[in-house]
Amino acid sequence: MPQPNDSRHGSATIDVTEFDAVVFDMDGVVTDTTAAHTAAWKEVFDEFLVRVVGPDVDRFDPVADYLEFVDGKPRYDGVRAFLASRGIMLDEGRPGDPPSADTVHSLGNRKNQSFLARLSAYGADSYPSTLRLLAELRRVGISTALITSSRNASVVLQAADVDVSFDVVIDGEVAAERGLPGKPSPAVFLAATDDLGISAVRGVVIEDAIAGVAAGRMGGFGLVIGVARHDNVTDLLNAGAHVVVDDLAAVSVVSCGSR
Ligand SMILES: [Mg+2]
Repeated sequence: MPQPNDSRHGSATIDVTEFDAVVFDMDGVVTDTTAAHTAAWKEVFDEFLVRVVGPDVDRFDPVADYLEFVDGKPRYDGVRAFLASRGIMLDEGRPGDPPSADTVHSLGNRKNQSFLARLSAYGADSYPSTLRLLAELRRVGISTALITSSRNASVVLQAADVDVSFDVVIDGEVAAERGLPGKPSPAVFLAATDDLGISAVRGVVIEDAIAGVAAGRMGGFGLVIGVARHDNVTDLLNAGAHVVVDDLAAVSVVSCGSR
């Protein structure tokens, strides 16, 4: 896909005089779990669609459908959004529904089962450039937070051998306990900066999902950095990223006078 010749694409700078904290999304920013997520969604959605609609159904596209309907969102929101794209509305069911039923919760639970099986079979990778940026932020005294829609944050971090401590972690479990809506609502990002005791305008959001970039911008964050893992620079800029990089190796941390 051609990428725009846009001055907002390429590199980003975090100036320690302007910002007090950086909020990291997990999947796709810290950990590389896209393959396991897309394969799990595809397995569950395709089985359901073929069985319920028929073999000629428009199946789950692991790139386009993943990015538009499920990436970054809480699991059940993703189920609803993708099925709506195929004109299907299912009963909500309940969180404890058995994976075998055909409700929103059951499909979400099937996806989670498949994702966890893949994680345990193949593990996950982390992005070394992200870990380097985290170390640099810690060195200059900028706080860090981890946010994720995932309810499996500790399992994913462990599978990826990420041994970094964040000052604040808001994962899907914490969000559910506090009744926080998922992305594109900025609620989880704002909960992170609240917990850190800073205002959003003094915070940076680093996100790879369209829903997450939109959430950061809507939350009034001073800097929203989109990470284009899928050749999707234009989509991230359109969603509200102030700047887009291809990897966090292109993000530098500067203190006053060092520019
Ligand atoms: Mg993500």
